[in-house]
Amino acid sequence: MKFGDININENVKQALSDAIDSGRLPHTIILEGGSPQKRLSLARLIAKAALCKGEGEYPCGKCPSCVKSDSGSHPDIMEIVGGEAARSFHIDRIREIRRDAFILPNEATCKAYILVNAQSLTAEAQNSLLKIIEEPPKFVLFIFVCTSRSMLLQTVLSRSAVFNLGAAEQGGNLTPERLEQARELASGIAYAMCEPNEYELLKKTAAFEKDKELLSACLPELRLIFRDALIIRNGGEPVSCSPQAAEKLSKQFTCEKLLTLCENINILKDSINKNSNHNLLITRLCSKLRV
Ligand SMILES: [Zn+2]
Repeated sequence: MKFGDININENVKQALSDAIDSGRLPHTIILEGGSPQKRLSLARLIAKAALCKGEGEYPCGKCPSCVKSDSGSHPDIMEIVGGEAARSFHIDRIREIRRDAFILPNEATCKAYILVNAQSLTAEAQNSLLKIIEEPPKFVLFIFVCTSRSMLLQTVLSRSAVFNLGAAEQGGNLTPERLEQARELASGIAYAMCEPNEYELLKKTAAFEKDKELLSACLPELRLIFRDALIIRNGGEPVSCSPQAAEKLSKQFTCEKLLTLCENINILKDSINKNSNHNLLITRLCSKLRV
């Protein structure tokens, strides 16, 4: 498979190439992490390669199918874009897909549905999709494009091939000391969130003002703590490095609020990838932690 100028890690390239070249592409693919643009570009490239009718390495880039894919006018590639806000991708959008997915492709041997912002799918919408994902028509390919797999139901994940596009960018080249620093700070922020006023939180997040890398490293750790708090609330065992902080959060925040917090971290991570203004990001972080 040809990737052009899409820069993703070698393992993901290899796995996708093997699947495309052997004609055994999974029916449901999840692309998570990396920048929104990178996820969407790769989703479009996979759809183009799956529908390509040319010779040699896919996508050939020259056949009529590839030309239509490039111009965004291929009748067998559908892009459905959900909102960025949590749980804003509703079941009515999915009902249309479910009806359409059983109709034969127009001209290719396969039809691809690219679901952008799949992290915002409601549980109801995911359950509705599940019925097709479990036994998909053989010509259908679903590509979920999302900030993180963690907002998708386990039942959906277990039937999908998940590719992480951000692993190399997030924490990949942090020294153990820096990672430890990020973990400690994430834990401190979680405790500060339990305080009645904002002062402690502002004090903790001030550490990011002159340290962009620390912010990038801290967000995934903070997310792990939120996820742990959710696990604790549901009677499970925490797995992050800060079980006490998670325990404290679990006593003060409802499941709904913890889910929103996880989602807010994903939004902030996307903003970092889009190179948003750093000081503005810190302000947004503080407001998004006060749910
Ligand atoms: Zn082609």
